[in-house]
Amino acid sequence: MPVQQVTILGATGSIGKSTLKVLAQHPDQYQVYALTGFQRLDELAQLVEQHSPKVVVVPEGKIDTFRSLLALHCNDKQIHTIEIVEGETGLCQVASAAAVNVVMAAIVGSAGLKPTLAAIDVGKRVLLANKEALVMAGELFMQRVKQAQATLLPVDSEHNAIFQCLPTDYFSSSARFANQGNRAGVSQILLTASGGPFRTWTLQQMHQATPAQACKHPNWSMGQKISVDSATLMNKGLELIEACHLFELPVERVTVVIHPESIVHSLVQYIDGSTLAQLGNPDMCTPIAHALAWPQRIATTVPPLDLFSANCLNFEQPDEDRFPALALAKSAMKTGGCAPAVLNAANEVAVAAFLANKIAFTQITQLIHAVITQINVLPAHDLDTILVQDLEARELAGQWIMANANRTT
Ligand code: NAD
Ligand code: MG
Repeated sequence: MPVQQVTILGATGSIGKSTLKVLAQHPDQYQVYALTGFQRLDELAQLVEQHSPKVVVVPEGKIDTFRSLLALHCNDKQIHTIEIVEGETGLCQVASAAAVNVVMAAIVGSAGLKPTLAAIDVGKRVLLANKEALVMAGELFMQRVKQAQATLLPVDSEHNAIFQCLPTDYFSSSARFANQGNRAGVSQILLTASGGPFRTWTLQQMHQATPAQACKHPNWSMGQKISVDSATLMNKGLELIEACHLFELPVERVTVVIHPESIVHSLVQYIDGSTLAQLGNPDMCTPIAHALAWPQRIATTVPPLDLFSANCLNFEQPDEDRFPALALAKSAMKTGGCAPAVLNAANEVAVAAFLANKIAFTQITQLIHAVITQINVLPAHDLDTILVQDLEARELAGQWIMANANRTT
């Protein structure tokens, strides 16, 4: 296979950096085509120095600032040959460029939707970390994957695990209609969740939780937003919606299982009584490498699982009273239309407000519930409607914060 040209959307993030680590191990197979960053432009300049992309994307209006940062880190050749583009147009350009073979969608939140769709619409191989994009656009997103015959590969560790446990013909039409609705013989998907840093906390304790405590995940090192999502279990709620779309299954066929060790990354149950699982040390380099190389395998530096030194593996039911995010997400998926986009938008605003110390941890789900109850959910016929509802939800969330900020309820 010729050397694959890779665009990394969200290169300065946790997934972006793990992707660069995997790519750097296989220079004969992959080259970095484009890197994008939003906040830490100094770090982006350092990544340019290390990985020599052809194009880099910075936020709107930041080209000059970035040029001066490049001058601090890069040699003359790098500075003169690199193309710098900006904003959402720039993101869509590097996601869909003819020279690109693979796009890692690792921007956090709704900002990743349009660039990810730009890659999908031209049939790229898209490695999906940015779950919010799929949650927002759901069926529309999957329709566009099919229309453009893009190759969509899950990077989220649970979905990557499920993908690995499904038969290769799972997506064929013969598998779809076999076994009386048990597609390819699959009866249930068991989506594992670590339970996050507050797994054993009472609601009262959670009410006092600080952003630093919420971001201190027991097993994974991740960006701030997904860390807070893991603490509320909204991450699992978003993943449940993600799984329904990726694997074309109703909510009832996806069961969340709390597994504090994060060794079993998810499981697939079959009608014959078999349960297949994918296990490994919790390091995102494994699902990234899997999605990059699929159907081949490439090496990573992740140490193999040592079952002799692994302690017990535990599994528990999730507590939906202490973690109402799960029920909110299930209900949004059942409602359908723009409900998941509303859920996602309200969550994004709530998490940002919590991180800015404007609302308490337990108010995150209260806010989402309030927004979902107030909004008139529309069918998700097109992207414009989804984006309008996303905006509406953000406005309602903003109003809720104004009215309830720092009020202990
Ligand atoms: P992060 O916060 O570490 O990185 C986010 C990246 O997105 C950064 O490069 C940032 O510059 C960029 N970005 C942020 N806002 C932007 C905007 N408005 N426009 C353009 N770029 C913007 O996040 P992360 O932990 O790497 O997560 C990225 C995505 O992957 C999220 O959707 C997350 O849910 C998903 N994911 C992450 C992990 C993990 O282990 N970190 C695991 C599974 C899924
Ligand atoms: Mg995950």
